[in-house]
Amino acid sequence: MTPFDALVAAGLRASVFRLRVLEVFAREPARYFAVEQIAAELVAHQARQVSLSTLYRQVNALHRGGVLLACRLVSGTTVFRWLDGAPPAMRLVCRRCGRIEETDDPALHRCLTQLVAGIGWRRSLLPLDCHGVCACCRPLLQGGRRRTAKVPVPDGENSCR
Ligand SMILES: [Zn+2]
Repeated sequence: MTPFDALVAAGLRASVFRLRVLEVFAREPARYFAVEQIAAELVAHQARQVSLSTLYRQVNALHRGGVLLACRLVSGTTVFRWLDGAPPAMRLVCRRCGRIEETDDPALHRCLTQLVAGIGWRRSLLPLDCHGVCACCRPLLQGGRRRTAKVPVPDGENSCR
């Protein structure tokens, strides 16, 4: 789906700014971006400054419209990726570096739906987020909390790639 088609399908006006924002996501459709990272990409590709408040409003409108999928990191930063198709069943979110890995096992979808239905709820299509520590960060955290406190924690960056 093109950025234009995504906006039309969501019933959102296809403004030039929204199209430029979605083009950032279209270049790396599986990547989650913090709003500041989107701004940096826009500046890098257009060589002009972007109002962060305008960008926040537009990204939130795209998220509310179902064009972007959000994930809140332990740091408090919310990151977004283009939702082209159905959302994954579950995301593994690293508490240290913010790395996000998605899993979309149909058996997990069925299991979650049945589990939720069993207690009288209806499952939304949003993924289940499981926060933990990725394989890359685990060696850095060995040795206890004292060492953990000395490790710099990037804000919204996937530094383990
Ligand atoms: Zn990590």
